[in-house]
Amino acid sequence: MKKVSILMLAGIIMISSVSMNQLNAQNMNEVKQSENRVPAKGFAVHSHDDHFHTYEFSRHAVGDNDVQIEILYAGICHSDLHAAWDEQQEQGLHATYPMVPGHEIAGRVVKTGKNVTRFKVGDYAGIGCMVNACGKCSSCKAGKEQFCENGTVFTYNSIDHYHGNETTKGGYSNNIVVSENFAVRVPENAAIEKVAPLLCAGITTWSPIHFSNVKKGDKVAVAGYGGLGHMAVQYLVDLGTDVTVFDRTEEKRKDAARMGAIRYINVNNKEEMKGLGGTFDFIISTIPANYEPIQYVAMLKMGGEMAIVGLPDKSTLNIADMAFLSQRKVYGSLIGGIKETQEMLDYSVAHGIYPEVEIIKADAAEIDKAWHNVSDGEVKFRYVIDMKTLK
Ligand code: NDP
Ligand code: ZN
Repeated sequence: MKKVSILMLAGIIMISSVSMNQLNAQNMNEVKQSENRVPAKGFAVHSHDDHFHTYEFSRHAVGDNDVQIEILYAGICHSDLHAAWDEQQEQGLHATYPMVPGHEIAGRVVKTGKNVTRFKVGDYAGIGCMVNACGKCSSCKAGKEQFCENGTVFTYNSIDHYHGNETTKGGYSNNIVVSENFAVRVPENAAIEKVAPLLCAGITTWSPIHFSNVKKGDKVAVAGYGGLGHMAVQYLVDLGTDVTVFDRTEEKRKDAARMGAIRYINVNNKEEMKGLGGTFDFIISTIPANYEPIQYVAMLKMGGEMAIVGLPDKSTLNIADMAFLSQRKVYGSLIGGIKETQEMLDYSVAHGIYPEVEIIKADAAEIDKAWHNVSDGEVKFRYVIDMKTLK
């Protein structure tokens, strides 16, 4: 009892040191913020083994620098499955439920805060994996907001320390509110139903291709030919490289040729896997399941580079093996910054580079089925939810 009253007294002293005016202004602001919260509806899972359910919630109010976007389309990324199924604990990522996934978002601006300059009501906008960052640290200043030293706010399952530490909710929903700095402009002539996957699958492959300065005539490989992989193939073919694709099904052999790859290798075919040592300048691995990365490192030429973007939970590289394969470089890559995302989007739309999408209705059972197919490798190449069909 004594302790409580001392604490209460300390609290009263602290409150009295803040002016009543300040307190009123703060309270008024909080009331205004909560009154103006934006009602939202979407799809959530409530545990790692749950099915989707429709889910009503609210988003923070549209601040002076924010835009409210009506979501038209949301892509289904394999990362959504890893996150909802809580598969990334070793990377320190833990699932918070209810979880509304979705970080490939295309929509229209329906409201703008008073300081917004880059968007007006009616514009198309895209949102990827991030919704906020400090904008002041060296990573943000270098255009790498995904590594914000003060904590990037990711699009879902992330603590939004700019808005009362609420957990962010993603794009499998009818709207989203973000700082205008985290929305990219989508040209009016874009094939809007195909834009959403560019915001993750597009930028995640575009970024390392450019980081490694891949150029015309290079011999390159894409391991894992799904949502990300088929974007990598298109960017690499567009650059004039010789592209080899590695995947594990025969059905995709024709698709690889159609997209301009010179060779398709079924990783389950031992004969096809022979004789590839030291042949590639650049390899990007998008493989989401456990595999032996060293077999791809061995396929690099000396000085060649391998970018790892796929997120299996247990694949490892033995450092002694790396020593014996001297002077091959292996690095990881996480999405891409906002400026780079805008460049990727403008380039993709101008060059007609889009994902191949299968559009599904905004319906819990349809999303469950699509997830099942992504998990089982039965999608070519990206599911996109038509959020306009949400009832
Ligand atoms: P998809 O499921 O669409 O594609 C993965 C592809 O890899 C499928 O075609 C799959 O084949 C193939 N594959 C699986 N195992 C192997 C193997 N052993 N060898 C060759 N191919 C294989 O996933 P996404 O493209 O959406 O995502 C890929 C990965 O990238 C995920 O782990 C995702 O979390 C991660 N990711 C990482 C990001 C980053 O910033 N680093 C951003 C976004 C995603 P099959 O069809 O037979 O299953
Ligand atoms: Zn993604």
